[in-house]
Amino acid sequence: SGKWVKAMEIVKEFEESCRTPISKLKQVADAMTVEMHAGLASEGGSKLKMLITYVDSLPTGNEKGLFYALDLGGTNFRVLRVLLGGKDGGILKQQFKEVSIPPNKMTGSSAALFDYIAAELAKFVAQEEDDFKPTSGRPRELGFTFSFPVMQTSIASGTLLRWTKGFSIDETVSDNGSPFVFMLIMHSVDLFIGRVGQDVVAELTKALERQGLEMRVSALVNDTVGTLAGGKYANNDVVVSVILGTGSNAAYVERAQAIPKWHGLLPKSGEMVINMEWGNFRSSHLPLTEYDQALDAESLNPGEQIYEKVISGMYLGEIFRRVLCRMAEEAFFGDIVPPKLKEPFILGTPVMSAMHHDTSPDLKVAANNLKDILEISNTSLKMRKVIVQLCDIVATRGARLSAAGLLGILKKMGRDTIKEGEKQKTVIAMDGGLYEHYEEYRNSLENCLKELLGEEVCKTIKIEHSNDGSGIGAALLAASHSQYL
Ligand code: ADP
Ligand code: MG
Repeated sequence: SGKWVKAMEIVKEFEESCRTPISKLKQVADAMTVEMHAGLASEGGSKLKMLITYVDSLPTGNEKGLFYALDLGGTNFRVLRVLLGGKDGGILKQQFKEVSIPPNKMTGSSAALFDYIAAELAKFVAQEEDDFKPTSGRPRELGFTFSFPVMQTSIASGTLLRWTKGFSIDETVSDNGSPFVFMLIMHSVDLFIGRVGQDVVAELTKALERQGLEMRVSALVNDTVGTLAGGKYANNDVVVSVILGTGSNAAYVERAQAIPKWHGLLPKSGEMVINMEWGNFRSSHLPLTEYDQALDAESLNPGEQIYEKVISGMYLGEIFRRVLCRMAEEAFFGDIVPPKLKEPFILGTPVMSAMHHDTSPDLKVAANNLKDILEISNTSLKMRKVIVQLCDIVATRGARLSAAGLLGILKKMGRDTIKEGEKQKTVIAMDGGLYEHYEEYRNSLENCLKELLGEEVCKTIKIEHSNDGSGIGAALLAASHSQYL
Protein backbone atom coordinates (compact mmCIF):
# COMPACT_ATOMS: atom_id res chain seq x y z
CA SER A 1 0.00 0.00 0.00
CA GLY A 2 0.94 3.67 -0.20
CA LYS A 3 1.56 3.83 3.54
CA TRP A 4 4.03 0.98 3.36
CA VAL A 5 5.88 2.59 0.48
CA LYS A 6 6.10 5.87 2.36
CA ALA A 7 7.37 4.16 5.53
CA MET A 8 9.99 2.27 3.58
CA GLU A 9 11.12 5.52 2.02
CA ILE A 10 11.66 6.94 5.48
CA VAL A 11 13.70 3.90 6.52
CA LYS A 12 15.72 3.99 3.31
CA GLU A 13 16.48 7.68 3.66
CA PHE A 14 17.42 7.25 7.32
CA GLU A 15 19.67 4.32 6.51
CA GLU A 16 21.33 6.32 3.77
CA SER A 17 22.10 9.26 6.04
CA CYS A 18 23.45 6.94 8.76
CA ARG A 19 25.97 5.29 6.48
CA THR A 20 29.43 4.88 7.92
CA PRO A 21 31.67 3.57 5.17
CA ILE A 22 35.30 3.03 6.16
CA SER A 23 36.40 6.14 4.25
CA LYS A 24 34.08 8.28 6.35
CA LEU A 25 35.15 6.60 9.59
CA LYS A 26 38.77 7.35 8.77
CA GLN A 27 37.87 11.00 8.36
CA VAL A 28 36.14 10.92 11.73
CA ALA A 29 39.22 9.29 13.29
CA ASP A 30 41.50 11.92 11.75
CA ALA A 31 39.25 14.70 13.02
CA MET A 32 39.41 13.15 16.51
CA THR A 33 43.22 13.12 16.36
CA VAL A 34 43.30 16.76 15.23
CA GLU A 35 40.96 17.83 18.03
CA MET A 36 43.06 15.95 20.57
CA HIS A 37 46.12 17.93 19.52
CA ALA A 38 44.15 21.18 19.68
CA GLY A 39 42.71 20.44 23.11
CA LEU A 40 46.18 19.64 24.47
CA ALA A 41 47.66 22.77 22.94
CA SER A 42 45.60 25.30 24.85
CA GLU A 43 42.73 25.53 27.31
CA GLY A 44 39.59 25.98 25.22
CA GLY A 45 41.50 25.12 22.06
CA SER A 46 39.03 22.45 21.07
CA LYS A 47 35.60 21.04 21.71
CA LEU A 48 37.61 18.30 23.38
CA LYS A 49 38.54 19.54 26.82
CA MET A 50 41.43 17.07 27.14
CA LEU A 51 41.43 17.58 30.90
CA ILE A 52 44.62 17.13 32.88
CA THR A 53 43.81 14.66 35.65
CA TYR A 54 46.90 14.98 37.84
CA VAL A 55 47.19 11.23 37.64
CA ASP A 56 50.78 10.87 36.47
CA SER A 57 51.20 7.28 37.48
CA LEU A 58 48.81 4.38 37.33
CA PRO A 59 48.67 1.58 39.89
CA THR A 60 51.78 -0.57 40.00
CA GLY A 61 50.42 -3.55 41.91
CA ASN A 62 52.27 -2.56 45.09
CA GLU A 63 49.27 -0.78 46.62
CA LYS A 64 48.49 -2.13 50.06
CA GLY A 65 45.82 -1.73 52.69
CA LEU A 66 42.13 -0.99 52.99
CA PHE A 67 40.64 1.66 50.73
CA TYR A 68 37.17 2.94 49.95
CA ALA A 69 35.63 4.23 46.77
CA LEU A 70 32.48 6.14 46.03
CA ASP A 71 31.17 6.07 42.47
CA LEU A 72 28.67 8.68 41.44
CA GLY A 73 27.65 8.02 37.85
CA GLY A 74 24.72 8.79 35.62
CA THR A 75 22.38 6.11 36.88
CA ASN A 76 23.89 4.70 40.01
CA PHE A 77 25.75 5.45 43.19
CA ARG A 78 28.01 2.78 44.64
CA VAL A 79 30.24 2.49 47.63
CA LEU A 80 32.94 -0.13 47.86
CA ARG A 81 35.90 -1.19 49.93
CA VAL A 82 38.88 -3.23 48.82
CA LEU A 83 41.72 -4.82 50.69
CA LEU A 84 44.87 -4.59 48.61
CA GLY A 85 47.56 -7.16 49.21
CA GLY A 86 50.64 -5.23 48.13
CA LYS A 87 53.26 -6.64 45.79
CA ASP A 88 51.83 -9.64 43.94
CA GLY A 89 49.03 -9.82 46.49
CA GLY A 90 46.32 -8.39 44.29
CA ILE A 91 42.85 -7.69 45.58
CA LEU A 92 42.43 -9.78 48.73
CA LYS A 93 38.85 -8.88 49.36
CA GLN A 94 36.19 -6.51 48.09
CA GLN A 95 32.67 -5.58 49.05
CA PHE A 96 30.27 -3.11 47.57
CA LYS A 97 26.84 -1.70 48.02
CA GLU A 98 24.66 -0.02 45.45
CA VAL A 99 22.41 2.73 46.72
CA SER A 100 19.67 4.56 44.95
CA ILE A 101 19.00 8.11 45.91
CA PRO A 102 15.40 8.81 46.92
CA PRO A 103 13.98 11.74 44.97
CA ASN A 104 12.94 13.58 48.13
CA LYS A 105 16.60 13.81 49.15
CA MET A 106 17.34 15.69 45.97
CA THR A 107 14.95 18.53 46.04
CA GLY A 108 16.46 20.29 49.04
CA SER A 109 19.97 21.54 48.69
CA SER A 110 23.27 20.32 47.41
CA ALA A 111 24.35 19.73 51.01
CA ALA A 112 21.33 17.47 51.55
CA LEU A 113 22.43 15.15 48.77
CA PHE A 114 26.02 14.98 49.95
CA ASP A 115 24.68 14.37 53.49
CA TYR A 116 22.68 11.45 52.21
CA ILE A 117 25.66 9.98 50.40
CA ALA A 118 27.87 10.47 53.46
CA ALA A 119 25.26 8.81 55.68
CA GLU A 120 25.08 5.77 53.37
CA LEU A 121 28.84 5.61 53.34
CA ALA A 122 28.91 5.76 57.15
CA LYS A 123 26.46 2.84 57.32
CA PHE A 124 28.64 0.87 54.95
CA VAL A 125 31.74 1.62 57.00
CA ALA A 126 29.94 0.48 60.15
CA GLN A 127 29.53 -2.95 58.55
CA GLU A 128 33.28 -3.56 58.27
CA GLU A 129 34.11 -7.12 59.20
CA ASP A 130 36.94 -7.91 61.56
CA ASP A 131 39.36 -8.95 58.83
CA PHE A 132 38.41 -5.95 56.75
CA LYS A 133 39.41 -2.97 58.82
CA PRO A 134 42.08 -0.29 58.42
CA THR A 135 45.36 -0.59 60.26
CA SER A 136 44.68 0.89 63.66
CA GLY A 137 45.25 4.58 64.02
CA ARG A 138 45.17 5.16 60.32
CA PRO A 139 42.22 7.11 58.93
CA ARG A 140 40.25 5.57 56.14
CA GLU A 141 40.88 6.91 52.67
CA LEU A 142 38.50 7.23 49.78
CA GLY A 143 38.73 7.52 46.02
CA PHE A 144 35.83 9.48 44.60
CA THR A 145 34.69 8.65 41.08
CA PHE A 146 32.73 11.45 39.57
CA SER A 147 31.41 11.02 36.05
CA PHE A 148 31.07 14.63 35.01
CA PRO A 149 33.61 17.05 33.60
CA VAL A 150 35.68 18.47 36.40
CA MET A 151 38.58 20.89 36.09
CA GLN A 152 41.12 19.52 38.51
CA THR A 153 43.70 21.51 40.38
CA SER A 154 45.32 18.49 42.00
CA ILE A 155 44.71 14.78 42.40
CA ALA A 156 42.25 15.49 45.19
CA SER A 157 40.41 18.63 44.16
CA GLY A 158 38.45 19.89 41.25
CA THR A 159 35.57 22.08 40.24
CA LEU A 160 32.59 21.04 38.22
CA LEU A 161 32.57 22.47 34.71
CA ARG A 162 29.09 21.53 33.61
CA TRP A 163 26.60 18.76 33.71
CA THR A 164 26.03 16.27 30.91
CA LYS A 165 23.89 13.22 30.23
CA GLY A 166 20.61 15.07 30.54
CA PHE A 167 21.17 16.74 33.85
CA SER A 168 19.11 19.89 33.79
CA ILE A 169 20.56 22.95 35.38
CA ASP A 170 18.51 25.39 37.33
CA GLU A 171 20.51 28.21 38.90
CA THR A 172 19.23 29.17 42.31
CA VAL A 173 20.72 30.58 45.46
CA SER A 174 21.64 28.31 48.32
CA ASP A 175 21.10 29.12 51.96
CA ASN A 176 24.59 30.45 52.41
CA GLY A 177 24.05 32.84 49.56
CA SER A 178 26.38 31.28 47.04
CA PRO A 179 24.94 30.33 43.70
CA PHE A 180 24.41 26.67 43.37
CA VAL A 181 23.00 24.58 40.73
CA PHE A 182 20.21 22.14 41.03
CA MET A 183 20.22 19.33 38.57
CA LEU A 184 17.83 16.65 37.78
CA ILE A 185 18.30 13.89 35.36
CA MET A 186 15.59 13.91 32.82
CA HIS A 187 13.45 10.91 31.99
CA SER A 188 15.10 8.76 34.55
CA VAL A 189 14.63 7.90 38.16
CA ASP A 190 17.90 9.57 39.01
CA LEU A 191 18.23 13.01 40.39
CA PHE A 192 21.33 14.76 41.40
CA ILE A 193 22.30 18.05 42.96
CA GLY A 194 25.59 19.86 42.82
CA ARG A 195 27.21 23.18 42.25
CA VAL A 196 28.93 24.16 39.08
CA GLY A 197 32.17 25.90 39.90
CA GLN A 198 32.50 24.44 43.38
CA ASP A 199 35.02 21.97 44.64
CA VAL A 200 33.27 18.63 44.73
CA VAL A 201 35.82 17.17 47.15
CA ALA A 202 35.38 20.01 49.63
CA GLU A 203 31.64 19.47 49.40
CA LEU A 204 31.93 15.75 50.10
CA THR A 205 34.51 16.26 52.86
CA LYS A 206 32.23 18.66 54.71
CA ALA A 207 29.40 16.15 54.49
CA LEU A 208 31.65 13.38 55.85
CA GLU A 209 32.56 15.63 58.77
CA ARG A 210 28.90 16.35 59.47
CA GLN A 211 28.41 12.58 59.70
CA GLY A 212 31.30 12.33 62.12
CA LEU A 213 32.99 9.96 59.69
CA GLU A 214 36.74 10.25 59.67
CA MET A 215 37.71 9.65 56.08
CA ARG A 216 40.06 11.46 53.72
CA VAL A 217 39.20 11.97 50.09
CA SER A 218 42.61 11.14 48.65
CA ALA A 219 41.72 11.05 44.97
CA LEU A 220 39.06 12.57 42.80
CA VAL A 221 38.86 10.69 39.55
CA ASN A 222 36.67 10.69 36.52
CA ASP A 223 35.10 7.29 35.83
CA THR A 224 37.26 6.87 32.71
CA VAL A 225 40.37 7.46 34.79
CA GLY A 226 39.15 4.99 37.40
CA THR A 227 38.55 2.46 34.64
CA LEU A 228 42.02 3.11 33.26
CA ALA A 229 43.57 2.60 36.69
CA GLY A 230 41.53 -0.52 37.41
CA GLY A 231 42.31 -1.85 33.95
CA LYS A 232 46.03 -1.23 34.33
CA TYR A 233 46.06 -3.06 37.66
CA ALA A 234 44.49 -6.09 35.97
CA ASN A 235 46.59 -5.87 32.80
CA ASN A 236 49.76 -3.84 32.53
CA ASP A 237 49.23 -3.16 28.81
CA VAL A 238 46.14 -1.02 29.41
CA VAL A 239 46.73 2.54 28.17
CA VAL A 240 43.27 3.64 27.06
CA SER A 241 39.85 3.44 28.67
CA VAL A 242 36.43 4.03 27.18
CA ILE A 243 33.05 4.23 28.90
CA LEU A 244 29.97 3.38 26.90
CA GLY A 245 27.10 3.68 29.33
CA THR A 246 24.46 6.34 29.76
CA GLY A 247 27.02 8.74 28.37
CA SER A 248 30.39 8.16 26.76
CA ASN A 249 33.92 9.28 27.45
CA ALA A 250 37.53 8.17 27.11
CA ALA A 251 40.88 8.61 28.86
CA TYR A 252 44.40 7.63 27.92
CA VAL A 253 48.03 7.95 28.94
CA GLU A 254 49.74 10.89 27.24
CA ARG A 255 53.38 11.93 27.24
CA ALA A 256 53.68 14.98 29.48
CA GLN A 257 55.96 16.56 26.85
CA ALA A 258 53.09 16.41 24.38
CA ILE A 259 50.81 18.62 26.48
CA PRO A 260 51.73 22.22 25.57
CA LYS A 261 49.05 23.62 27.89
CA TRP A 262 50.68 21.95 30.89
CA HIS A 263 52.95 24.48 32.54
CA GLY A 264 53.68 22.58 35.73
CA LEU A 265 56.75 20.52 36.48
CA LEU A 266 57.17 17.49 34.29
CA PRO A 267 56.09 14.47 36.31
CA LYS A 268 58.75 11.90 37.13
CA SER A 269 56.96 9.30 35.08
CA GLY A 270 56.96 11.64 32.09
CA GLU A 271 53.30 10.78 31.67
CA MET A 272 49.91 12.23 32.41
CA VAL A 273 46.46 10.70 32.16
CA ILE A 274 44.15 12.81 30.04
CA ASN A 275 40.38 12.77 30.47
CA MET A 276 39.28 13.56 26.95
CA GLU A 277 35.60 14.34 27.58
CA TRP A 278 35.17 12.92 24.11
CA GLY A 279 31.39 13.04 24.30
CA ASN A 280 31.61 16.68 23.26
CA PHE A 281 33.46 15.84 20.04
CA ARG A 282 31.82 16.97 16.82
CA SER A 283 32.87 17.01 13.23
CA SER A 284 31.34 17.72 9.86
CA HIS A 285 32.22 14.12 9.01
CA LEU A 286 29.76 12.71 11.55
CA PRO A 287 26.75 11.33 9.69
CA LEU A 288 23.95 13.25 11.40
CA THR A 289 20.32 12.95 10.39
CA GLU A 290 17.31 15.20 10.76
CA TYR A 291 16.35 13.07 13.79
CA ASP A 292 19.68 13.79 15.47
CA GLN A 293 19.29 17.50 14.78
CA ALA A 294 15.83 17.51 16.34
CA LEU A 295 16.96 15.44 19.34
CA ASP A 296 19.83 17.85 19.93
CA ALA A 297 17.71 20.97 19.49
CA GLU A 298 15.16 19.70 22.02
CA SER A 299 17.78 18.43 24.46
CA LEU A 300 18.84 20.15 27.66
CA ASN A 301 22.26 20.92 26.22
CA PRO A 302 21.70 21.83 22.57
CA GLY A 303 24.85 21.99 20.50
CA GLU A 304 26.84 20.12 23.12
CA GLN A 305 27.87 16.47 23.45
CA ILE A 306 27.06 15.78 19.80
CA TYR A 307 29.22 12.66 19.58
CA GLU A 308 27.72 11.33 22.82
CA LYS A 309 24.26 11.91 21.35
CA VAL A 310 24.88 9.46 18.50
CA ILE A 311 26.86 6.77 20.30
CA SER A 312 25.72 6.49 23.92
CA GLY A 313 23.02 4.61 25.77
CA MET A 314 21.00 7.57 26.85
CA TYR A 315 20.19 8.49 23.27
CA LEU A 316 20.07 5.42 21.00
CA GLY A 317 16.56 4.41 22.02
CA GLU A 318 15.39 7.98 21.62
CA ILE A 319 16.75 8.27 18.07
CA PHE A 320 15.00 5.01 17.27
CA ARG A 321 11.73 6.37 18.72
CA ARG A 322 11.97 9.50 16.63
CA VAL A 323 12.26 7.57 13.38
CA LEU A 324 9.39 5.29 14.38
CA CYS A 325 7.32 8.34 15.20
CA ARG A 326 8.01 9.82 11.78
CA MET A 327 6.86 6.55 10.21
CA ALA A 328 3.75 6.59 12.37
CA GLU A 329 2.94 10.03 11.03
CA GLU A 330 2.73 8.38 7.62
CA ALA A 331 0.16 5.97 9.07
CA PHE A 332 2.58 3.06 9.51
CA PHE A 333 0.65 2.01 12.64
CA GLY A 334 -2.77 3.00 11.35
CA ASP A 335 -4.62 6.26 11.13
CA ILE A 336 -3.40 7.80 14.34
CA VAL A 337 0.08 8.11 15.76
CA PRO A 338 0.14 5.88 18.87
CA PRO A 339 0.18 8.46 21.71
CA LYS A 340 2.92 6.72 23.70
CA LEU A 341 5.24 6.94 20.73
CA LYS A 342 5.17 10.72 21.05
CA GLU A 343 6.73 10.63 24.53
CA PRO A 344 10.40 11.55 24.46
CA PHE A 345 12.70 8.92 25.98
CA ILE A 346 9.91 6.38 26.46
CA LEU A 347 11.96 3.84 24.50
CA GLY A 348 15.10 3.18 26.47
CA THR A 349 18.16 1.67 24.88
CA PRO A 350 17.77 -1.57 26.93
CA VAL A 351 14.36 -2.09 25.29
CA MET A 352 15.75 -1.26 21.90
CA SER A 353 18.51 -3.81 22.39
CA ALA A 354 16.04 -6.46 23.57
CA MET A 355 14.09 -5.94 20.34
CA HIS A 356 17.26 -5.93 18.29
CA HIS A 357 18.41 -9.21 19.85
CA ASP A 358 15.06 -10.91 19.29
CA THR A 359 15.82 -14.23 17.63
CA SER A 360 12.34 -15.72 17.84
CA PRO A 361 10.98 -16.53 14.37
CA ASP A 362 7.91 -14.35 14.86
CA LEU A 363 9.79 -11.56 16.67
CA LYS A 364 7.80 -12.06 19.82
CA VAL A 365 10.07 -9.95 22.03
CA ALA A 366 9.67 -7.02 19.67
CA ALA A 367 5.91 -7.56 19.57
CA ASN A 368 5.66 -7.68 23.36
CA ASN A 369 7.73 -4.55 23.85
CA LEU A 370 5.75 -2.66 21.25
CA LYS A 371 2.59 -3.68 23.04
CA ASP A 372 3.76 -3.15 26.62
CA ILE A 373 5.65 0.08 26.20
CA LEU A 374 4.08 1.78 23.22
CA GLU A 375 0.63 0.18 23.38
CA ILE A 376 0.93 -0.84 19.74
CA SER A 377 -0.60 -4.26 19.31
CA ASN A 378 -1.53 -4.54 15.67
CA THR A 379 1.89 -5.15 14.13
CA SER A 380 2.55 -7.69 11.43
CA LEU A 381 5.75 -9.71 11.29
CA LYS A 382 6.74 -7.73 8.23
CA MET A 383 6.40 -4.49 10.19
CA ARG A 384 8.39 -5.88 13.10
CA LYS A 385 11.18 -6.84 10.75
CA VAL A 386 11.42 -3.25 9.61
CA ILE A 387 11.40 -2.08 13.22
CA VAL A 388 14.27 -4.42 14.11
CA GLN A 389 16.12 -3.17 11.06
CA LEU A 390 15.79 0.37 12.43
CA CYS A 391 17.41 -0.75 15.72
CA ASP A 392 20.22 -2.17 13.66
CA ILE A 393 20.78 1.05 11.74
CA VAL A 394 20.91 3.18 14.90
CA ALA A 395 23.13 0.78 16.88
CA THR A 396 25.49 0.07 13.99
CA ARG A 397 26.13 3.72 13.31
CA GLY A 398 26.80 4.38 17.01
CA ALA A 399 29.11 1.40 17.36
CA ARG A 400 31.10 2.18 14.22
CA LEU A 401 31.48 5.82 15.17
CA SER A 402 32.84 4.82 18.58
CA ALA A 403 35.30 2.51 16.81
CA ALA A 404 36.38 5.50 14.70
CA GLY A 405 36.90 7.57 17.85
CA LEU A 406 39.06 4.81 19.25
CA LEU A 407 41.12 4.74 16.08
CA GLY A 408 41.61 8.50 16.54
CA ILE A 409 43.10 7.89 20.00
CA LEU A 410 45.31 5.05 18.76
CA LYS A 411 46.59 7.33 16.01
CA LYS A 412 47.38 10.08 18.48
CA MET A 413 49.32 7.55 20.54
CA GLY A 414 51.12 6.16 17.50
CA ARG A 415 49.64 2.76 18.13
CA ASP A 416 47.68 2.39 14.92
CA THR A 417 50.70 0.99 13.10
CA ILE A 418 53.32 -1.63 13.91
CA LYS A 419 56.82 -0.36 14.26
CA GLU A 420 59.61 -2.54 12.93
CA GLY A 421 60.88 -4.93 15.54
CA GLU A 422 58.52 -3.72 18.24
CA LYS A 423 56.27 -6.05 20.15
CA GLN A 424 54.05 -3.41 21.64
CA LYS A 425 50.67 -4.47 22.96
CA THR A 426 47.82 -2.05 23.46
CA VAL A 427 44.89 -2.90 25.67
CA ILE A 428 41.75 -0.78 25.87
CA ALA A 429 39.72 -1.08 29.08
CA MET A 430 36.03 -0.73 28.31
CA ASP A 431 33.15 -0.34 30.69
CA GLY A 432 29.55 0.78 30.78
CA GLY A 433 26.14 -0.79 30.53
CA LEU A 434 25.82 -0.20 26.80
CA TYR A 435 29.05 -2.02 25.98
CA GLU A 436 28.32 -4.71 28.52
CA HIS A 437 24.74 -5.53 27.58
CA TYR A 438 24.20 -4.51 23.97
CA GLU A 439 25.83 -7.42 22.20
CA GLU A 440 25.07 -6.27 18.66
CA TYR A 441 26.62 -2.91 19.46
CA ARG A 442 29.68 -4.48 21.03
CA ASN A 443 30.21 -6.87 18.14
CA SER A 444 29.74 -4.15 15.60
CA LEU A 445 32.27 -1.94 17.40
CA GLU A 446 34.86 -4.69 17.63
CA ASN A 447 34.43 -5.81 14.03
CA CYS A 448 34.64 -2.26 12.80
CA LEU A 449 37.84 -1.60 14.75
CA LYS A 450 39.34 -4.70 13.14
CA GLU A 451 38.31 -3.44 9.75
CA LEU A 452 39.83 -0.04 10.44
CA LEU A 453 43.12 -1.34 11.80
CA GLY A 454 43.73 -4.20 9.43
CA GLU A 455 44.64 -7.73 10.35
CA GLU A 456 48.27 -7.21 11.35
CA VAL A 457 47.81 -4.22 13.66
CA CYS A 458 44.67 -5.75 15.04
CA LYS A 459 46.71 -8.52 16.61
CA THR A 460 48.45 -5.94 18.81
CA ILE A 461 45.26 -4.27 20.04
CA LYS A 462 42.84 -5.76 22.50
CA ILE A 463 39.63 -4.61 24.12
CA GLU A 464 39.06 -5.85 27.65
CA HIS A 465 35.85 -5.48 29.56
CA SER A 466 36.75 -3.90 32.85
CA ASN A 467 33.83 -4.82 35.03
CA ASP A 468 33.42 -2.17 37.69
CA GLY A 469 36.96 -1.08 37.04
CA SER A 470 36.15 2.52 37.80
CA GLY A 471 35.29 1.94 41.46
CA ILE A 472 38.26 -0.30 42.12
CA GLY A 473 40.41 2.06 40.09
CA ALA A 474 39.39 4.97 42.30
CA ALA A 475 40.31 2.95 45.41
CA LEU A 476 43.65 2.07 43.80
CA LEU A 477 44.37 5.71 43.04
CA ALA A 478 43.42 6.63 46.59
CA ALA A 479 45.99 4.02 47.65
CA SER A 480 48.76 5.22 45.36
CA HIS A 481 48.08 8.81 46.38
CA SER A 482 47.63 7.95 50.02
CA GLN A 483 48.54 10.71 52.42
CA TYR A 484 49.73 8.25 55.02
CA LEU A 485 52.32 6.14 53.25
P1 ADP B 1 26.29 4.97 33.97
O1 ADP B 1 26.79 5.23 32.59
O2 ADP B 1 25.07 5.74 34.25
O3 ADP B 1 27.34 5.08 35.01
P2 ADP B 1 26.10 2.17 33.30
O4 ADP B 1 27.50 2.09 32.87
O5 ADP B 1 25.56 1.08 34.13
O6 ADP B 1 25.75 3.48 34.07
O7 ADP B 1 25.24 2.27 31.97
C1 ADP B 1 23.86 2.33 32.02
C2 ADP B 1 23.38 2.56 30.62
O8 ADP B 1 23.69 1.41 29.82
C3 ADP B 1 21.90 2.73 30.52
O9 ADP B 1 21.56 4.10 30.60
C4 ADP B 1 21.57 2.18 29.17
O10 ADP B 1 21.65 3.18 28.21
C5 ADP B 1 22.67 1.18 28.88
N1 ADP B 1 22.16 -0.18 29.06
C6 ADP B 1 21.92 -0.82 30.22
N2 ADP B 1 21.42 -2.05 29.99
C7 ADP B 1 21.35 -2.19 28.66
C8 ADP B 1 20.89 -3.23 27.78
N3 ADP B 1 20.42 -4.39 28.25
N4 ADP B 1 20.98 -3.01 26.47
C9 ADP B 1 21.44 -1.86 25.99
N5 ADP B 1 21.86 -0.84 26.76
C10 ADP B 1 21.82 -1.00 28.06
MG1 MG C 1 29.30 4.64 35.31
